[in-house]
Amino acid sequence: MSTILVLLGPPGAGKGTQAVVLAKKFGWTHVSTGDMLREAVAKKTDLGMEAKKYMDRGDLVPDSIVTNIVVDRIMRDSSSKGFILDGYPRTETQALSLEAALSRSGMLINVVIYFETTPEISISRLSGRRVCKKCGANYHIKNIPPKKDGICDKCGGELFQREDDKESTVRNRLKVYEDQTEKLLSYYEKKGILRTVSGDLDVESAFRDLRNLFKKESVI
Ligand code: AMP
Repeated sequence: MSTILVLLGPPGAGKGTQAVVLAKKFGWTHVSTGDMLREAVAKKTDLGMEAKKYMDRGDLVPDSIVTNIVVDRIMRDSSSKGFILDGYPRTETQALSLEAALSRSGMLINVVIYFETTPEISISRLSGRRVCKKCGANYHIKNIPPKKDGICDKCGGELFQREDDKESTVRNRLKVYEDQTEKLLSYYEKKGILRTVSGDLDVESAFRDLRNLFKKESVI
């Protein structure tokens, strides 16, 4: 049966960076709702055009839109040995829909990992983040700088700042997190599947802590 991991935490806590590392290391499928929505926006699909209105403000896209794309993705790849859900669920409605969809296929969430950090660190991570236009790789102007300014190490693509990583939008994203997503911590805590890691560490140290956690939880 597929392993299902949920990464929870405020924007800028390092979920996306770790999800990429974990997917590569353990062969799990990375399911990032943010990436899937940005892809739909870039392709100018109907769903993308609808989602863009919310994303530009840093608000959440309606639950039904997001749940459909996540469930489709999992079902399409149901033979994968594992899924890392990065940025989903973000509301209680999404958490309930996910559980219902998984249980219809005899699947369960193994562990929910909370990346704990402060708003100051989130803001500094997000406002310094740069993304490759071509391959989507993430950098940070101070913490993970590219070898050549403004150019992706991996593919030579141009780096840019996401519209929603500008400071005023970042503040709204943090508020939306506090208002709508934070309550999922107690929801999963009550189910006994919430584990906490520090979201303040560098990429290697955070990965080391996650690997130790997975060993303890018999996920690897
Ligand atoms: P992220 O890259 O995860 O920070 O997501 C970027 C934006 O996509 C968010 O600010 C939301 O507008 C939208 N989004 C991503 N995941 C979700 C979700 N699970 N529910 C609602 N909106 C989402």
